[in-house]
Amino acid sequence: MQDFTESMAAQVVRPRNNANYKGQNGHIVIVAGNERFGGAAIMSAQAAVYAGAGLVTVATAAKNHAPLHARLPEAMVIDWADANLPILLRQADVIVVGPGLGVDAAALGILSLVLSAVTDSAALIIDGSAITLIAENHIKVLHQQTIWTPHPIELQRLVQLAPPAQTDIVLPVVAHDQLPGILVAKGAPTRTIADHAAFRNTSGGPAMATGGTGDTLTGVIAAFCGQFGFNVHVVAAAVWTHSAAADLLAADQYVAVPSQVAAAVPKIMRRLSQQ
Ligand code: AMP
Ligand code: MG
Repeated sequence: MQDFTESMAAQVVRPRNNANYKGQNGHIVIVAGNERFGGAAIMSAQAAVYAGAGLVTVATAAKNHAPLHARLPEAMVIDWADANLPILLRQADVIVVGPGLGVDAAALGILSLVLSAVTDSAALIIDGSAITLIAENHIKVLHQQTIWTPHPIELQRLVQLAPPAQTDIVLPVVAHDQLPGILVAKGAPTRTIADHAAFRNTSGGPAMATGGTGDTLTGVIAAFCGQFGFNVHVVAAAVWTHSAAADLLAADQYVAVPSQVAAAVPKIMRRLSQQ
């Protein structure tokens, strides 16, 4: 497994040309946040906006609409029960499903709707509750442009292995073989695995060990795919950038608060684009 470094991330994050406009930077639809976990939707959307997504729409529970607008005026919102959601999903360049979605029947219904609406050309990021729902209900995901972002417990739910094989290196490799697309096995360090490449992230640290960090990672990955395309280098660069933003904060803070991590991402992207 190869180390993924700053200079590799700098090959992905290039300066924008002068004529760049929002239509070229991806329309991201984030399906997230039930009545209890609205913050996950907000943090994911914030990270997508700050990582340069062209447009961000959040499909979330009604209770989260006003807080989302207040916290993140750049984002658009649609109720996740809105009959127009499938149309929006078919128009999306990148879909995130899962942060704070919950694992009840309503969440399962929304996940099923997303899986049936995603077009072949869209990237699909599956995180958090969506991973748990897929594991528990034995849902087969066939979409090729999928990015999985499990933390270690979610990874174990996805792939049940006997203990000796269940090491933090073997499990992601075995899991990737069983899943379509790219696997981001979060941890210390995070590993990004695709068919012909596997990278060990070199940024980040324990200041990131707090609830919400994974939600911001989904937004950064989504925005990177929206701007730079779907491939393992782009995803590994998003992982590197997200953790580098946390490192920037950790230089003089004990904890890298996730919404601050999101807000620091543009600085890291600028630094990469200047190399
Ligand atoms: P989640 O558990 O979904 O909130 O995701 C946590 C995020 O923080 C992942 O991107 C992890 O890789 C990162 N993270 C948490 N703890 C550490 C650590 N000790 N060192 C490096 N990265 C960490
Ligand atoms: Mg999470």
